[in-house]
Amino acid sequence: MQPLTYFDYAATAPVRPEAAAALTDALSRFGNPSSRYEYGRQAAQRLKEDRETVARALGCSPAEVFFTSCGTESDNWAIRRGAELNRRKGRHIVTTAIEHAAVLETCRDLERSGYEVTYLKPDRAGRIGAEQLAAALRPDTVLVSMMLVNNETGVILPVADCVKAVKAFDPSILFHCDAVQGFLKTPDPLARLGADLIAVSGHKIGAPKGIGALYVKKGVRLRPLLTGGGQEDGLRSGTEATAQIAAFAAAVRAALEDGDRLARTAAIKDYTLSQLKQAIPKLEVISPGDAPHICALTLPCYKSEVVVRVLGDRGVCVSSGSACHRGKPSHVFAAMNLPKPWLDGALRLSFSPDSTRQEADTLVQTLKDAADSLFTTLS
Ligand code: PLP
Repeated sequence: MQPLTYFDYAATAPVRPEAAAALTDALSRFGNPSSRYEYGRQAAQRLKEDRETVARALGCSPAEVFFTSCGTESDNWAIRRGAELNRRKGRHIVTTAIEHAAVLETCRDLERSGYEVTYLKPDRAGRIGAEQLAAALRPDTVLVSMMLVNNETGVILPVADCVKAVKAFDPSILFHCDAVQGFLKTPDPLARLGADLIAVSGHKIGAPKGIGALYVKKGVRLRPLLTGGGQEDGLRSGTEATAQIAAFAAAVRAALEDGDRLARTAAIKDYTLSQLKQAIPKLEVISPGDAPHICALTLPCYKSEVVVRVLGDRGVCVSSGSACHRGKPSHVFAAMNLPKPWLDGALRLSFSPDSTRQEADTLVQTLKDAADSLFTTLS
C-alpha cells in the first residue's frame, strides 16, 4: 500500500516504534502481576515502573494512576461513579455542549436515570469561560465534567480557573476533566489543573488502542466501575493488560524525551494554515486551535463528507470532525452557531511533531484541486 498523507492524529496516532518494541517484549513475559512466583513478581515490578512513568507525565503520585481500557472507560467511570459519590446532596451535573461522545452520552444516560444535566454552550470561537460555569452551579450540583482540549477545534478550555470557581462555590463538587486530547499536548502536567479526576488515552500518543488511564486525586473515594478480582487497588478489576500498559509507558517516555515536540507540532500547523490560506482564498479558519496539534477549517458551501472522501481517494487523510461521528454533522461546530454553509464544509486537521512540510504541501495541493473541481451546494 502506498503511504498515506496523514493529518488525522486526533483520531488516532501510529504506534511508536518504542511502544511496539515494549509491547512485543511484554508479550513474551506473560506473568500475571497477581501471581506469587517469579513470573508474577517480575510482571508486578514492570507494572509498578510503568505506572511511575505515567504518573511522572501526569505530575502525580503512582497511587493516583489507574489503568483502564480506553479514554471512554475512564470518562464513564469518572462520571458515573463521581456523580454517585454525593448522591445525598443532589443530582445535578454541569458539562459542556462540546464534549466528546464519551462524556455526552454518559451524561445523557444519567439523565435517563433521574439526573439533571446543564450543557454549557460555547461562543462562536468555541470558548467557555469560568464565570459562565460558575453561574450554572447550584446547591444540588454534584459533578462538573469539562474537557481540556476540544477534539474538533483544538480550543483549550480554562479548566484550572474553572476548578477554582467550582471549589470556591462548594469544595464537595467533584471536577472531572476529559484530557484525552490534552495529555502530553500541553506544557504543564495535567494534575496541576487541580481536577479530582482526569481521563487520558494511549492511542492518541502512540500507544496501541485499548489502553487508557484515570487519575484519581488522593482522597477522592471513587467506587469501582468494574468489580471482580480487586486489581488496581480494588478500583478497577480485570487482570492488568501488561503488554498494553508497557507500550503506553514506552510511548509516554518517548514523548517526555522529545522536549521540543509541542513547538514542532505548532510550527507545522502554522505552516500548513498559511499555505492553505494562500492557495485557497475561499477557505476560512473556524479555529486555529490553542493546542499545537488541532485546527478546524471550512470550505463554505462544500460538503465536507465529499471533500474528505475525495481527499481520501487521493491518499490524503483528514476528518470532517470527530472520527466518532461517522458522517453526522459535528455537534461541536453546531453548538458554536456557525452559519450553515460553514457547518457543511467543516474540516479538522490534526498534526504530529513529525508531520513534514512535504506532507503539508501535498495536502494543500490536493485540497486546492478538490475545491477547484467539486461542486458546491450553491452550484
Ligand atoms: N475524549 C476525547 C476528547 C477524545 O477525542 C476521545 C477519542 O477521540 C475520547 C474521549 C475517547 O477515547 P478512546 O478512543 O480512548 O476511548
